[in-house]
Amino acid sequence: MRIDVLTLFPAMFDGVFHSSILGKAKEKGLVELNTVNFRDYSNNKHNTVDDYPYGGGGGMVLKAEPIFAAVEDIRPVDEQTKPRVILMCPQGEPFSQKKAEELSQERHLIFVCGHYEGYDERIREYLVTDEISIGDYVLTGGELPAMVVIDSVVRLLPGVLGNETSAVTDSFSTGLLEYPHYTRPAKFRDWDVPDVLISGNHAHIDQWRRKQSLYRTWRKRPELLERIELTAQDRKWLAEFQQEDK
Ligand code: SAM
Repeated sequence: MRIDVLTLFPAMFDGVFHSSILGKAKEKGLVELNTVNFRDYSNNKHNTVDDYPYGGGGGMVLKAEPIFAAVEDIRPVDEQTKPRVILMCPQGEPFSQKKAEELSQERHLIFVCGHYEGYDERIREYLVTDEISIGDYVLTGGELPAMVVIDSVVRLLPGVLGNETSAVTDSFSTGLLEYPHYTRPAKFRDWDVPDVLISGNHAHIDQWRRKQSLYRTWRKRPELLERIELTAQDRKWLAEFQQEDK
């Protein structure tokens, strides 16, 4: 996969693109990560990329020309692949694990990070294929949101995570929140690890984990339960939780 990020602040990506899982994925050649400063595509002598809004009002608007020019100058990964051009925007589709999974199937992603008050609307209408928001709050720029999306997509690429199963059982991948984890020591202060986890019985461990996942989801994010198919056993456990809660 190749990821190109259009930003006015490429230095913000230095740490993120060179550390931890993203840094390793890059080193292993599993993903190519580039930044493009779209100020380099400004078509005026002062190198400006923003201008006053038509109709008046406060705030500056990112101009269409440099962003179109920067996207159009990006080398394609091959002749057949059309890149997904993703606008980071608080008005976009709320980001989710499902969207991360969808994007992880692509070969070429281009992220456009905004700044200032907004974008010239023609960027949204004629250039981008997706608009993504990372939540109902407003940040200064699209850089942090793009990092969030890139991190969640790259960790899904084959070979990126050491233990392939870890992404499969993550919260949201199964439709449920993940079960609790414990590691050594088995007793810490007065608190013991649940017996089942040290029993060596994998069928019981799987059952315990499913029940715990279900319990956590029911407690913390009950709306997620409406979106998944529950087994007869799940329904029994849910009835138990409701009973115990009375
Ligand atoms: N005036 C815009 C509005 O009300 O929709 C907000 C502009 S914001 C100050 C500047 C840039 O930060 C946006 O263009 C976008 O790239 C990014 N941004 C801010 N909040 C975001 C969010 N929740 N998700 C994704 N991008 C966001």
